[in-house]
Amino acid sequence: MCLYGKGVARGYAIGRAVVLGATALEVAHYRISPDAVVSEKARLTTALKAAQDEMRELATTLPDDAPRELAALLDVHSMLLADPLLANEALLLIEARHYNAEWALTAQGQILGEQFAAMEDEYLRERGSDVRQVIERVIDAMSGSKSSRSLDKIQKTDESLIVVAHDISPADMVRLRGASFAGFATDLGGPTSHTAIVARSMAVPAVVGLGHVRSLVSDGDVVVLDGASGTVIVNPPAFALQEYRQMQQDFIAYREELALLKNVESVTLDGIRIGMLANIELPEEAELAIENGADGIGLFRSEFLFIGQTDLPDEDQQYQAYSKVVKTMAGRPVTIRTLDIGADKTMDGELAVTMNPALGQRAIRYCLARPELFATQLRAILRASAHGKVKILIPMIAHMHEIQSTKLALASAMRDLDERGDEYDAAVELGAMVEVPATAIAIEPFAQLLDFLSIGTNDLIQYTLAIDRADSEVANLYDPLHPAVLRLIANTINAGERAGKPVSVCGEMAGDPKLTRLLLGLGLTEFSMHPQQLLDVKREIRRAHSNALRTQVATILNRGQPIDPDLLNAQN
Ligand code: PEP
Ligand code: MG
Repeated sequence: MCLYGKGVARGYAIGRAVVLGATALEVAHYRISPDAVVSEKARLTTALKAAQDEMRELATTLPDDAPRELAALLDVHSMLLADPLLANEALLLIEARHYNAEWALTAQGQILGEQFAAMEDEYLRERGSDVRQVIERVIDAMSGSKSSRSLDKIQKTDESLIVVAHDISPADMVRLRGASFAGFATDLGGPTSHTAIVARSMAVPAVVGLGHVRSLVSDGDVVVLDGASGTVIVNPPAFALQEYRQMQQDFIAYREELALLKNVESVTLDGIRIGMLANIELPEEAELAIENGADGIGLFRSEFLFIGQTDLPDEDQQYQAYSKVVKTMAGRPVTIRTLDIGADKTMDGELAVTMNPALGQRAIRYCLARPELFATQLRAILRASAHGKVKILIPMIAHMHEIQSTKLALASAMRDLDERGDEYDAAVELGAMVEVPATAIAIEPFAQLLDFLSIGTNDLIQYTLAIDRADSEVANLYDPLHPAVLRLIANTINAGERAGKPVSVCGEMAGDPKLTRLLLGLGLTEFSMHPQQLLDVKREIRRAHSNALRTQVATILNRGQPIDPDLLNAQN
């Protein structure tokens, strides 16, 4: 039997299935008598507190080698347990409608779950599963059962085990640690679900979103899991098993080879040094960048500090987040992108009101229209620059006057700090993202005025080919290899070279090892990508001959022909 889901953590796992039971949210529904309201509310409050205590205990007993993400996810659950939107509303239902505690809690959970499900942002949408998992824990506490998930059956063993579950909560993950498990397969979840995040950080293969894997697989079944393609094979025939064992060995050898690359230089066969930078979304990810040998941070997407917040982070909170990254990077450059909000990324409660948000007031347009918000962020970034090398990156620049306005805003933020006596780096570098085709076409004045450029290929492709990057119906037309896209990238890199200004690529193209030779051939000398991709790309760089690739790519581009990256790979 073959099942197909989303592969979210690469690698092959082969082992016996351990199927986890689900805590049913089908709880008893009954109305309590008016004189039982007080005791029923107390029952819920006690259970909420017990679940909170349990979460706190798990957080404090986390071993040092537990993935960082786990602690953060436990925090999210603690916060949800304390959130009045959950607790107070459920208590109100007991009081006003005389629901029993379980009913009140699941009813309110459903309302919150629906609100999350309606959110546009994929990450936030998946947070609905946190609400469900938190409620499961409270219901467990009310029923007095602590191990309804039958995690206890996973003991330390030498055998490879594959955890098969409806969903896996962060608290489950903590309990699963210490047991030998080789992979995860779950009914629910997407690329940013807990299972995916934690599995990636532990380098354990995982497939999520399988739909019915828990009901189709039994304890003890032999399961093969391919964490790249998202395939799960149950009780495979011997020949398939053998083939997968070989693939597993090859993959392990490949990862071992990659790990050796961490401390070697990123240099092409013809001696060109290539900068390897990391893209991060949260301050904690800076450590991952260091672990993977990054030369610095090429893109800190600061909007992730703002997304989903009802109270915007103030200057001090932002300063803490930025300086944490700067300190972790210990002298390596940290490029902080100013708020890139709007279009597919909206703040809490802010509905996209424009007809076409991707062409509306987003990114730098949004910030220049809100001088106070922009000034707060600039001051916070400047203060962080007192602790190391900080560069400021402005998203979605299309006009020279946007640069002028940004420079004025920056000068004004510096004056504010001077008045306060706060320290900052007065020579902080200012760069822009090249994401709008107009900017890439008429790039010269930008290259002259700015200290550096960074090509955001995700948006550049979207705007060049008129393909909404979030619309799955046109995803097949989203083509990084379109000659027009490649010409815009080449034009930007060449202008940077002429002006003596560094140019990097920080869109997804930079992290795809299949495109590394093509980008080298376009003259790129700085790549910025998710930390987990750094070593794959470095491997390609060390095998490439940069100058030979440049000649080859220039010839093909001049003819306006499409480029087949596989051919480049074969030849140089
Ligand atoms: C890009 O557009 O390529 C980019 C790196 O920015 P984001 O994906 O955050 O829009
Ligand atoms: Mg972008």
